[in-house]
Amino acid sequence: MGIDRRTVMRRALLATGGVAVGAGGAIGLPRLFGWDRPPLSGGYAAAADAPADMRNPGLSVHYYVETTEPVVAFTFDDGPAPDWTPMALDALDAAAIPATFFMVGRNLEANADLVRDRMSRHEIGNHSWSHDDLATLDRAGVMSELTRTHEMIKKVFGRTPTLMRPPYGHLGGSTVLAADLMGYDIVLWSHLMRELYFEKNPDGQVRDIVDNVRPGSIVLAHDTGKPNRLVSLRGLPAMFAGLKARGFRFVTVPELLALEKKTPAA
Ligand SMILES: [Zn+2]
Repeated sequence: MGIDRRTVMRRALLATGGVAVGAGGAIGLPRLFGWDRPPLSGGYAAAADAPADMRNPGLSVHYYVETTEPVVAFTFDDGPAPDWTPMALDALDAAAIPATFFMVGRNLEANADLVRDRMSRHEIGNHSWSHDDLATLDRAGVMSELTRTHEMIKKVFGRTPTLMRPPYGHLGGSTVLAADLMGYDIVLWSHLMRELYFEKNPDGQVRDIVDNVRPGSIVLAHDTGKPNRLVSLRGLPAMFAGLKARGFRFVTVPELLALEKKTPAA
């Protein structure tokens, strides 16, 4: 079966496009080698490289939960940090609702005092040590990122995390293997703050969340980062009020997942 010249050219163009995207990103170099080539930093691991090592037969990746109960889980990534973690916590306290914070280990090490006494109602998940793109690391690299943060969370809060979220939502096989070894569920999201789109339209950002959240949704927000994130952080009180008015209850991600386990299969 031959591949004609046109196909070859199209593939070459696609490859060139991939280089352009990769080179424009923050971590351009590994992506120069394309999606099917090992990056310099260690190589993608296939998720079934080491079947004998697997501990859980059904590691789960959660985007949302299928339920008829009006519950929603807000999640905050990348902190803790002095810019907006206190603001997010204040908004949650004012509404007396829980959330889930996916913390970056090195940020927790630097800012533990910001959050040490403020997490009693909230859940804490692992968002890697350095916010590297875990999909470009081999299993040892991912294990190191997750283990350091796991230990830091235990040290600061005396709790053992059970959830992880990969930075950028980039989920490589090596992360699946590492999450399995550490007994983590992987949590992604069904809704996210769209600061790029709504930066100049705070009411639009609030409505986008209040109108579109469904029973079982997981909402992604950030408690640190670029200034445009302020449009969603400032909108949190209105989002919480609007969702309460729609009859929603707020839960942590583990509470949401427990609900899924109780729901009989259709
Ligand atoms: Zn992140």
